[in-house]
Amino acid sequence: MSEFMNPKYISLKEYTPGEQPKGTKFIKLNTNESPYPPSPEVIKAVSSDVVASLKLYPDPDCSELRDSLAEFYNTGSENIFITNGSDDILNFAFMAFGHKGAVFPDITYGFYKVFCELHTISYKEIPLNEDFSISPKEYYNAGRMVVIANPNAPTGLDLPLCEIEKIVESNKDNVVVIDEAYVDFGGETAIPLTRKYDNLIVVRTYSKSRSMAGARLGFSVASEKLTKDLNKLKFSTNPYNINRMTMAAGIAALKSHEYFKEKNEMTINIRECTTKRLEELGFYVIPSKANFIFVKHKRISGEKYYNELKNKGILVRHFNGARICEFNRVTIGTEDEMKIFLEKTKEILENENI
Ligand SMILES: *Cc1c(COP(=O)(O)O)cnc(C)c1O
Repeated sequence: MSEFMNPKYISLKEYTPGEQPKGTKFIKLNTNESPYPPSPEVIKAVSSDVVASLKLYPDPDCSELRDSLAEFYNTGSENIFITNGSDDILNFAFMAFGHKGAVFPDITYGFYKVFCELHTISYKEIPLNEDFSISPKEYYNAGRMVVIANPNAPTGLDLPLCEIEKIVESNKDNVVVIDEAYVDFGGETAIPLTRKYDNLIVVRTYSKSRSMAGARLGFSVASEKLTKDLNKLKFSTNPYNINRMTMAAGIAALKSHEYFKEKNEMTINIRECTTKRLEELGFYVIPSKANFIFVKHKRISGEKYYNELKNKGILVRHFNGARICEFNRVTIGTEDEMKIFLEKTKEILENENI
């Protein structure tokens, strides 16, 4: 750090993104990207005309994309807020609504804590149950902003909508953020509840279920008032946060719902098959509603399994936290990728005489 850095950031520990390896060819099962390309409509939409129009700023209100999303999710354009990846929405939500503090599970998306530290928000982490499930009651009347990833990451476990509703209902004086990055892989969305509760923000991303992690596109659905608050911060930061190519791709993706639905169903099927095969090999696999599984084996450490897979050309995600260091998070890839993953896993276990 230079001597010029504002001292308030000296102790800030930034988020560590999953590795994006260059050069060596890995089977990449570490950052929950889709293994499938965006739909043909999306690829066509980013045309040379759109590229030629890059000389002009994009629409800061994202009107066309907001209208498309509003129609798709059966809500109003005034309820949609759009950012450069959903991490930006989370950042703005912590900035806008975190002044009374925030609460989230002890094991969840690592970025929540970073945003709290960035904005000097006091936060409380509620331990997950022994089986890594969330106890909804512990979030009732929290007296501060509540943030829950549903399905949760890196566990993949989800809460039913009725439990989410009780949390929202009991926190009328505070904002509840439901991060639905993985909801398209089998969870229940809370978007319909945004019509009933004006303290709820549902955060979504194109990065996982719409195969567009590289485009950087996220959006939220919330009451008009909350959406205006978020927009105030966006227009005070970076009004042109969505570039023209991403905007065109985002609109086209909504027109290819069938394509993405089919791909997501494939991911769900492959997830269930992979889970079964791993269980047969003696793994403990947390039942997942996401495009990844969280797995551990009694007889090989999480770190060793991670390193052995890496040696064999497969990258998964290992975390160091006390309760999760024996686990690895494995993104569900294509059928072929998962076949290789299972073969290599078998080899690793055999070499360990397991
Ligand atoms: C991937 C992810 C996000 C953010 O994705 P963006 O690429 O910034 O849209 C948000 N929350 C969770 C839980 C995620 O896993």
